[in-house]
Amino acid sequence: MAGSLLTWAALTFGASRGASPVVANSSGPLPSSSITSQDGSGSVVATASQNATAGVADVEVPVLVGKSIQVAEALVTAAGLTVQTRVADPVAPGVVPGVVVSQWPAPNALVSPGAQIVITYQARIGTAAQYIVLIDPGHQQKANTALEPVGPGSTQRKAKVAGGATGVATHIPEYKQTLAIALKLRDALVAKGVKVLMVRTTNDVDIPNSKRAAIGNTAKADLVVRIHLNGSADSGMHGITTLYPSGNAWVAAITVASKKAAQAVDAAVVAATGAVSLGLSGRSDMSGFNYSTRPSIIVECGFLSNAAEDKLVATAAYQQKLADGIATGVVSYLLGQ
Ligand SMILES: [Zn+2]
Repeated sequence: MAGSLLTWAALTFGASRGASPVVANSSGPLPSSSITSQDGSGSVVATASQNATAGVADVEVPVLVGKSIQVAEALVTAAGLTVQTRVADPVAPGVVPGVVVSQWPAPNALVSPGAQIVITYQARIGTAAQYIVLIDPGHQQKANTALEPVGPGSTQRKAKVAGGATGVATHIPEYKQTLAIALKLRDALVAKGVKVLMVRTTNDVDIPNSKRAAIGNTAKADLVVRIHLNGSADSGMHGITTLYPSGNAWVAAITVASKKAAQAVDAAVVAATGAVSLGLSGRSDMSGFNYSTRPSIIVECGFLSNAAEDKLVATAAYQQKLADGIATGVVSYLLGQ
């Protein structure tokens, strides 16, 4: 049953190769209205929004274009600023991989301490088009409380698909929110040229967590991104946390890669949403991880037990921020940064 639900969302490549670098994701914090010109190298030249206050603590934006992404990130951090990285796609001829091709705000602009600097760099290895990502929208309309081993051959058993959380304010169930975010994530990744598979595109399915992992194994997915929302007895708890497989023999082979993906996605999704990062968490108790032979992460996109975050996650605008941030992090990981 699950096999027939496989959906090849994208089989096409992105924009034609050989064109000037194009910021793959234009819906983020790089305001198009700020772009005043584009020089011959394809670098976007933007007008910085000068800090209107006469504060003495203004920070000068370092020159980043032409530097390696690692050096650029170090410079931004050393200046007391925050960094968001983007991947230029497609690969432009004559541009060295791993090198920053544009930045915003412009060099020498004065900004407030901690301000976000967006730097776009050239992909190191080809383009995102060579990769397959499986997206698993957590849960389903009806839980499947029948038990399955928590990992291959285990005597410990868990529900095939748990019920999930429900919005304390909106009363919207987790399975609907995860699908809404996942569909936007699919579109964001497709826009970057990634080939995307979906575990499900409707709510009325019955796909055990072991089977969800098997879909990624069969497809040889480069990354499995599982979308969930959190719940807590503490109604004040809010923010995003990203889980990766760790701590047992089943997942030993995918732990390092999965953690790297979790780090990239967590940084990007927190930057895109402004949400609190609760950090990463290595987990040995997730069936969907334990059956996977492919690098996998779970993005817990917020707490449905927190009224404000529940309402926020229910908006299309915030779902889009989540999707764009996750997509940025996924592509960063795929391209080896
Ligand atoms: Zn969940």
